[in-house]
Formats: sequence, C-alpha cells, structure tokens
Amino acid sequence: MSAFASDMGTFVEVSNDNGVVMKKDGYQFKQLDNKYFVRVDKDTEIVSALKEICKENNITAGEITGLGAIKSATFGFFNPETKEYKEKTFKEYMEITSLIGNVSQKDDEVYLHLHMNASGKDYKTIGGHLVKAVVSATSEIIISPEEGSIGRKFSEEIGLNLFDF
Ligand code: FE
Repeated sequence: MSAFASDMGTFVEVSNDNGVVMKKDGYQFKQLDNKYFVRVDKDTEIVSALKEICKENNITAGEITGLGAIKSATFGFFNPETKEYKEKTFKEYMEITSLIGNVSQKDDEVYLHLHMNASGKDYKTIGGHLVKAVVSATSEIIISPEEGSIGRKFSEEIGLNLFDF
C-alpha cells in the first residue's frame, strides 16, 4: 500500500489482485479500461465528489451514469422565460433511480451537467437538474471519459451555458 498527496487532499492508492483502488475520505474509485467506477460513501455529497475526480484525473469530456441511496437532494428547475433556476431541497431517504449527465469544461474548470430522478418511500419519482445530493448508504457511479475536451459558453439569449464547439 502506498499513499500520495494531491492538491485535492490525500488519496491512498491500494493495490490488490484486482488492480489499483484510489481511496479518499468519502469515496473511492477504480479505473477499468478508460472508465472510472466510483463508490461514494455515506454522508458524502455526490456532485462535489464527481467534480473532484474529474479534476484530479483531467477528465474534460465524457458521460456519467449512476444510482444509489441518498438522504437529501437539491434539484433545480430552469424557467426559460425568467432564465433562472428555482431550487428545491428534499430531505428524505430516496433511491436514485437515474443519475445521468456529462462532463465538459468552462473557463478551464471542470463543468458537470447532471440530472437526477429519485424515488422515496411512496415509490413516486421526483427529479430535475441536480445541484447536490448526499448519500445515505452508498452510490455507484460510472464516469466514461472521452479523449479531447468539450467547452461551454454562456448564451445571453438562452440564459444557460451551452456546449461550445
Ligand atoms: Fe440541466
């Protein structure tokens, strides 16, 4: 077992018969081919963990899919007329029934665009633009990076940061 420090904090690199696992307080991940399999642990906020992994590994384009169990989620709803997001936080135990999104770059920073559906004890689903979500048990997320980078630029007309090719 060896440890190394990064500017995001300390990762511990653990090697076993199945390969190398990168561990940090709150989450761990393993690279398989070009994909990152991520385990986000109890009490950890998902969006910031994913952003950190992308930043740390220089991922500037790609896809994200995931599921898991959470205890709170903040969703945004974008109103195209006012060009503003209205946010709402739900504090209850929920299953992430679908987490989907992409990785791009804006102003040299990692930019995640994530949407999520989650269902509570009544099995009904809520969802929207994902602002943040905190894990209650575990969350399993796969980041599939692509070579190259995808940029973004703010559109005055739309009020959003659009893909900028
Ligand atoms: Fe969105």
